[in-house]
Amino acid sequence: MKTALTLAATLLLSACAAQSNADAASLFVSNQSEYFEAVKAAEPGDVITLKNGEWKDFEILLTGEGREDAPITLTAETKGEVIITGESNLRLGGEYLHVTGLVFKDGYTPTKEVIAFRKNKSLLANNSRVSEIVIDNFNQPDRREPSFWVMMYGKNNRFDHNHLVGKRNAGVTMAVRLNSEESLENRHLIDHNYFGPRSILGSNGGETLRIGTSHHSRKNSFTRVENNYFDRADGELEIISNKSGRNEFIGNTFYKSRGTLTMRHGNNNLVEGNVFFGENADHTGGIRVINAGQTIRNNYMEGLKGTRFGGALVVMNGVPNGPINRYDPVINAEIINNTLVDSDNVQLGAGSDEERSGVPEDSRVANNLIVNSDGRDVFTVYDDMSGIEFENNVLGSMDPPSFATGFERKSVTMSRADNGLLYPQDGIDAGVKRGLKVTTKEMVGPNWYPKTEPNVAFGSGNVIKISPKEGAIYEAVQLASAGDTIELAAGDYNVTKFLKLDKALTFAGQGDVDITFERSALFEILDGASLRLTGLTISGSEAPDYTGNSVIRTSPYAMLRNYRLEIEDVNFVDMDINRAFNIVTAAKGTFADNISVINATFSDVSGAVFSLNKEIDDYGIYNAEYLTITDSTFENIQGDIVDYYRGGTDESTFGPHFELTGSTVKNVGKGGRNKSKSSILLHGVQVTNIEGNTFEDCAPIVLNHTVAEPKSFVTGNSFKNTPMPVNVELNSGLEPTAIVKDNKVVN
Ligand code: CA
Repeated sequence: MKTALTLAATLLLSACAAQSNADAASLFVSNQSEYFEAVKAAEPGDVITLKNGEWKDFEILLTGEGREDAPITLTAETKGEVIITGESNLRLGGEYLHVTGLVFKDGYTPTKEVIAFRKNKSLLANNSRVSEIVIDNFNQPDRREPSFWVMMYGKNNRFDHNHLVGKRNAGVTMAVRLNSEESLENRHLIDHNYFGPRSILGSNGGETLRIGTSHHSRKNSFTRVENNYFDRADGELEIISNKSGRNEFIGNTFYKSRGTLTMRHGNNNLVEGNVFFGENADHTGGIRVINAGQTIRNNYMEGLKGTRFGGALVVMNGVPNGPINRYDPVINAEIINNTLVDSDNVQLGAGSDEERSGVPEDSRVANNLIVNSDGRDVFTVYDDMSGIEFENNVLGSMDPPSFATGFERKSVTMSRADNGLLYPQDGIDAGVKRGLKVTTKEMVGPNWYPKTEPNVAFGSGNVIKISPKEGAIYEAVQLASAGDTIELAAGDYNVTKFLKLDKALTFAGQGDVDITFERSALFEILDGASLRLTGLTISGSEAPDYTGNSVIRTSPYAMLRNYRLEIEDVNFVDMDINRAFNIVTAAKGTFADNISVINATFSDVSGAVFSLNKEIDDYGIYNAEYLTITDSTFENIQGDIVDYYRGGTDESTFGPHFELTGSTVKNVGKGGRNKSKSSILLHGVQVTNIEGNTFEDCAPIVLNHTVAEPKSFVTGNSFKNTPMPVNVELNSGLEPTAIVKDNKVVN
């Protein structure tokens, strides 16, 4: 009651103030009904302040008509201490509105957007600003359910100094929409934001920023994306998908982010002064140029390992007079004064085929500097490049290519300047300008919210020592915190309950440690868990005499968080008490960032070692990004070492990846119930390396290629009484493209 009176008094004061056109009111609200009353009465210049604390299930709607000199502001009592949780979101509708200081976490939006610059289709926000907002892991509970964190509609809006981290479900993190007349030529500004780590989605729909859609892509947006920091924005192969005209991407930093800034649709865009640090990570790319009138100038790229469409600099071929959703040819491009250091790939005419026959025209590539310490030839040229004028490009580590003039090899010594970039010695007049201002992590986001690491490292916590005694492992799991190591003294352990994990834990054996288990799985990886096993022998001899046991399985429900699984110096034995006993079984809707196996042995397994085949809808979704097996032994496995499935024909993912090296494989894949009749089944795997292994009495390796020029190598193996690998191109109609060479066939 007292609060209501106070509010009434405040509103009265506010009304008086507005009437007399004097000072704006400050409205302090401590619950949702007070908030909505305050909004109703808000006048230009008013500030509505939310009381510190948790606001649960709060669908914030801020509507009103502020003025340029007197916006209506929604803020926090203390920035960062108003926490919006549960089923909550924020919509703005009207003129000159400003929202700042709020944190969205521990929840998700009940609608499709967390922040929308509109109330609905008929009331958009214009001239409005959202700044110093945090959205932290505010995801739909199911990773497959799409939602969007920020959607900009209307015109002249600004989104700045925000912190967006941990987008894990399907759907672009942030988009600018041009879906009505009122949202075209919008002149939005997106600046000084922290786009924090976005984990690999494992399908299309994991872009961090998109501007426009293909439908309206020949319209202009005039959006400026400036001084933002993209930190490991790994969702999919487009970090930014530009799909409209006249946008500017200026002074942004891309740190260790897989994918590229892609000029997917729309003409006359400017990409200037951006910095890409790949840190030599897989699939880190730069800029992909498509369409007419693009200017790519004064950008710096270092340590980018991306290939093909994901290279450091990619100029595509287009479809002449093609439909709006295809690639338009590159015309009038200016690619000048860029520096590429230790970056693997420059691709010209990429995508050239019967349909994409439109080569670049009336374009200029000048004053660029390319230096690679390994001396590699960075160019791949797919078509006629006579439509590009090449001029004064300096190569520091390779001879000029033969497809064009305009390249000169010079002796170049690079040294790092104060801004963190490498520059050549004086006298080399190419590459990015001296004094390029580099956006750092410290310059972006609100300064009151920490930029934490996304994963807890194995072994980063405490050590919990246990010895063989009933329930010892189970009890240790209940006690452990993320990053802890459970150290098992030598002896026999029998586990009678499921070990359900929801955090990163290591199980490390000291001496001879033997583990048996009585449930249908030993470990269950739940959302948030990661698992490392080392120095153990795990036996299936006490597992139930039913079909379908696993040593490790993921939650049967879809998981938002990607997991990591590491297995080193572990023996798996007697996994054949009944049929279809797998070592690792992944469920639908779960995703491993990385599964690595070093120096392990697997013997007498009635199912598969790794069952990663539950995403069978052919939507381009799969169960694990990397499966890497080194120096291990497989013997008497009735199913496959891995049954790996990535269906669908879209080209939006880098993975899955598979590597098997230095291993011994004996009597694998020949179980009567193994339908695939293979020892390794790779369906739609994008990168495969099977090298230096010994196969004996095995079913063949089967590589089903589905899309996107997969890279498959089977080299330096010996095959004894084992058929040679089978490679099938399922959709392209090509001859098999897997490289199968230098293998020894032994009879
Ligand atoms: Ca995409």
